[in-house]
Amino acid sequence: MGKTQKKNSKGRLDRYYYLAKEKGYRARSSFKIIQINEKYGHFLEKSKVVIDLCAAPGSWCQVASNLCPVNSLIIGVDIVPIKPLPNCITFQSDITTEDCRSKLRGYMKTWKADTVLHDGAPNVGLGWVQDAFTQSQLTLQALKLAVENLVAGGTFVTKVFRSKDYNKLMWVFQQLFEKVEATKPPASRNVSAEIFVVCKGFKAPKKLDPRILDPKEVFEELADGPQNNEAKVFNPEKKRRRREGYDEDNFLQFKSVPVLEFVRSDTPIDVLGETNRLEIDDEDPEWRLLKKLRKTTPELMECFKDLKVLGKKDFRNMLRWRKLARELLQLDEDDKPLEVEVEELNEEELIDKELDQVRARQLAKQKREKRKKNEMKQKEITRMQMNMLTPMDIGIEAGNIGRESLFNLKHAEKTGQLKDLAKGKRRMIFNEDDLIEDNDIHIASDAEVESDQEVDELEDQLNAMYDAFKQRKSERDAKFRAKQARGDDDDEKWDGIQDKGSDEESEAEAKDYEEEDDESGSELDSDDDEAINKLIAKLKSEKGSGLSKKADLLFSNSIFDGVEAQIPTKAAKQQEPTPSPSNLSTTASLDSDEEVEDSSDDEGGRIEYVSREDNEDEDMLDSDDEDVNLRNHQKDVELATAQAMTMAHQLALGQKTKHDLVDDGFNRYSFRDSEGLPDWFIEDEKKHSKINKPITKEAALAIKEKMKQLNARPIKKVAEAKGRKKMRAMARLEKLKKKSDLIAEDSEKSERDKADEISKLMRKLTKKQKTKPKVTYVYAKGQNKGLSGRPKGVKGKYRMVDGVMKNEMRALRRIAKKHGRK
Ligand code: SAM
Repeated sequence: MGKTQKKNSKGRLDRYYYLAKEKGYRARSSFKIIQINEKYGHFLEKSKVVIDLCAAPGSWCQVASNLCPVNSLIIGVDIVPIKPLPNCITFQSDITTEDCRSKLRGYMKTWKADTVLHDGAPNVGLGWVQDAFTQSQLTLQALKLAVENLVAGGTFVTKVFRSKDYNKLMWVFQQLFEKVEATKPPASRNVSAEIFVVCKGFKAPKKLDPRILDPKEVFEELADGPQNNEAKVFNPEKKRRRREGYDEDNFLQFKSVPVLEFVRSDTPIDVLGETNRLEIDDEDPEWRLLKKLRKTTPELMECFKDLKVLGKKDFRNMLRWRKLARELLQLDEDDKPLEVEVEELNEEELIDKELDQVRARQLAKQKREKRKKNEMKQKEITRMQMNMLTPMDIGIEAGNIGRESLFNLKHAEKTGQLKDLAKGKRRMIFNEDDLIEDNDIHIASDAEVESDQEVDELEDQLNAMYDAFKQRKSERDAKFRAKQARGDDDDEKWDGIQDKGSDEESEAEAKDYEEEDDESGSELDSDDDEAINKLIAKLKSEKGSGLSKKADLLFSNSIFDGVEAQIPTKAAKQQEPTPSPSNLSTTASLDSDEEVEDSSDDEGGRIEYVSREDNEDEDMLDSDDEDVNLRNHQKDVELATAQAMTMAHQLALGQKTKHDLVDDGFNRYSFRDSEGLPDWFIEDEKKHSKINKPITKEAALAIKEKMKQLNARPIKKVAEAKGRKKMRAMARLEKLKKKSDLIAEDSEKSERDKADEISKLMRKLTKKQKTKPKVTYVYAKGQNKGLSGRPKGVKGKYRMVDGVMKNEMRALRRIAKKHGRK
């Protein structure tokens, strides 16, 4: 290689230089052939015989030796000596000479080369002979050697320079090879005019026209083709000097053409390109016509005078003007587009057309929706696969379905029977047929899944019911007030009951009871039952203190004999759910506090109810918010055991009445003598010594679903968090993989650099995953208050806190702990 080039000159010592040094290659150009080989199907890896023409100092030979199969024959030749290379045969010779040709034949013997490489660049200044050869001629010589030595289908890679001979060389390559492509590998400097041509699939023609490889023939100057007038017109600024002189036919240096010839000509650009001036004939009637055009400006006419000084814009104006002129002279009539007459559609066809359009729109809409649904489904599946969701058969969703399926009140609402159902009177709701047909009232079929709309409907229904309840209550209040106004002294005595509102309500309820008792005999309304229970409790406790006449009359009835009732305590009363329609059947089953507690305890069942506080104002506020309302409603009654659920279920269906429950409460476990017995014994008895009541399948299923729902809640959250964590880790890993792949593929980097970079990435990744450093809270008191800077003895992250903050934190922790225990 020419030593004239300074290695330390600007831009020469680039990364390929250092990389080549590191890899032990003799020249940075080694990376050019590496990149070409990678881009064009790793042809070197498949080559058993490689000839490297112009090989000095030998880096391409080194690359070939590394990449070709073991025991491959690699021959390198250069006009300058090449230092011996392992696994390569090298010799010094000029590739344009017969000597090189014969030497090469000697080394090749009978073999044929799979690949011939040529990276020759003429060494300027070596001698007149070398100087005489241009790069293109050298390339053609290399091709000649390649044609002699290549196997059919072989590959030839050569360097060419961008010059006027480039196309001619390309044409020659194309005659001899199946596929010819020019490329500039990244390792080749942009400032360099070199490009590489990769010729694959040597055709190995049996007979070859010797002229095809003859530099004189190939690079012979051809006569110039037709002039590019277009370029002249549209790039007039770039004027080429014609050193060759003028056209043979054009002996005149100045050419003028009548302006109408320019207008009429089919090649206006040629006219403009070849002409110096457009002549105007004022006598010409056509010109007189054209002169009237608005675009025929004095400026335009000035332009006609010397076309050689015009710019692109002027030419464009002239061409536009020509178009208008042709229109005026009606020269383009033949080119007019054909007018096609379209028949008007009749009414039927119009309707059909419209229908088709509507159908098409609908179809498109359906398709869109379907696609959207599929996408959603796909997303859901992906989320499930990533463990971000628990499947529908467990968890909250299942709980919801379960709740809906067990107590699906849709049908009952629609038929207006919900209210009656809430009171637990089966006979009022169902007849025998209904029970068979409308089984879905209480046990919904699996197929029935409540839609959002249904939920909304239910909510509306409940709201309406609640409004009705309020209305009724206010009516009762009004009645009571009216009564008070009449001055009924007996009623005044009821003040002993703690809550005045409840008193009023109780009185009204008692009154209702009296009326209804007459009508329906022993069958009581659950609302009334509730009120009566309270009333009994109250009145019994006040026996002797004077009852109202009506109350006296009521309790003189023999049915109250032997009935023990307790006045509910204030606390108990607060816990007691409001007998609103939303309490549904469970409320109806609560005969009296004591009775229910007893019976449920005995059965091992526990009825827990999370009730809204008996606070109507709150409800009123909430009533605006539908979601909250619905949620509150759902929380009204929470049955925790299968026995309790069964009981509620039976009451709701009217299979059992409150009396049955009362009866059930009286059993051998009911009244145990616990006096003198140790606590642990009583506890134990309570747990184990009780009636085992059968439970219904539906109730068991409902409780099971509820438990699943409860269990799934934390599990679902944990699973989702874990899924998210996993997903994040996977994403990070994927990113790392991609990055490291990119690094590994980068042929410009050494293996050590690659390894370093990848391990750096790994370190970064693991560093990110580390847990957050622990923060030490420093409480500065006394003199240390307001100290700035790191406090003594504190390592790592720290945070200064003041006394108030510390106390607050403690209090918060205490509260949280307390609630957590609960
Ligand atoms: N591919 C080589 C490598 O990577 O080591 C570098 C080749 S260098 C760019 C060009 C080489 O062409 C020079 O070493 C020069 O001596 C050689 N060369 C120029 N004219 C030649 C000729 N007529 N015969 C043989 N070699 C020639």
